[in-house]
Amino acid sequence: STEAASVLLAEDITVAFGGFVAVKGMNLKLHAHDLHFLIGPNGAGKTTMLDVICGKTKPLSGTVRLNDGTELTRLKEHQIVRKGVGRKFQAPSIFGGLTVQENLALAAESQRSPLRTLRIPRYGKISAAMERVIQQIGLQDRVYTRAGALSHGEKQWLEIGMLLLQEPRVLLLDEPVAGMTDEETHKTGRLLQDIAQERSVVVVEHDMEFVREYAAKVTVMHEGKLLKEGTMAEVQEDPRVAEVYLGK
Ligand code: ADP
Repeated sequence: STEAASVLLAEDITVAFGGFVAVKGMNLKLHAHDLHFLIGPNGAGKTTMLDVICGKTKPLSGTVRLNDGTELTRLKEHQIVRKGVGRKFQAPSIFGGLTVQENLALAAESQRSPLRTLRIPRYGKISAAMERVIQQIGLQDRVYTRAGALSHGEKQWLEIGMLLLQEPRVLLLDEPVAGMTDEETHKTGRLLQDIAQERSVVVVEHDMEFVREYAAKVTVMHEGKLLKEGTMAEVQEDPRVAEVYLGK
């Protein structure tokens, strides 16, 4: 495949919690149209890397930059969202009492207004951008369903849809298929492939079967460091990768 333009570059990131160094000199480069998986044993520092990129955690040293030179590590979390970096956490952030349409409308609105002035936009009003996202996440039959009544998979897709309405260039996802049925998992894989046509997607994932099927690129972390990077085939060939997974 051809080398796409770099979108985001994290360089020499080190993160310490008290005296414990969770990430040590980690580098991560994202390209346009990446569907990039971040894997590694528990405690490797994967979630911490996502936290650094979205500004939730400030690194002890190192920088995260967009390709236009913006240094994200100097910005606050909400400013980073506005620079086009969206993060989906494992804990749900949808409003169960509101419909799918209302949740999406709120997400679209939050892009424009500060949180305290947020108002739920008029019931039933669907913008063109929203319509497109509803099709993309496959919830066209659930538009006026209360989000609390959705299946687990549908809730996850709604959250991804809410992120998409913020028009991110980079989407950071933490274990998006956890708890999903096989069918939901595959639908999610295809959705992420579709999103990567336009954006860069980074996924922290433990489900190796899912990674094998959908990863275009894999970065393996171990003890806060980069262990191996490449295609899934290249990564699997490296005996050091098997070693860290099997606990040597
Ligand atoms: P992974 O996502 O690869 O499982 P994490 O990034 O969640 O790993 O964690 C890396 C290491 O940092 C772990 O040892 C974890 O216990 C530690 N850690 C993460 N967050 C904190 C925190 N807020 N305070 C102290 N230690 C933390």
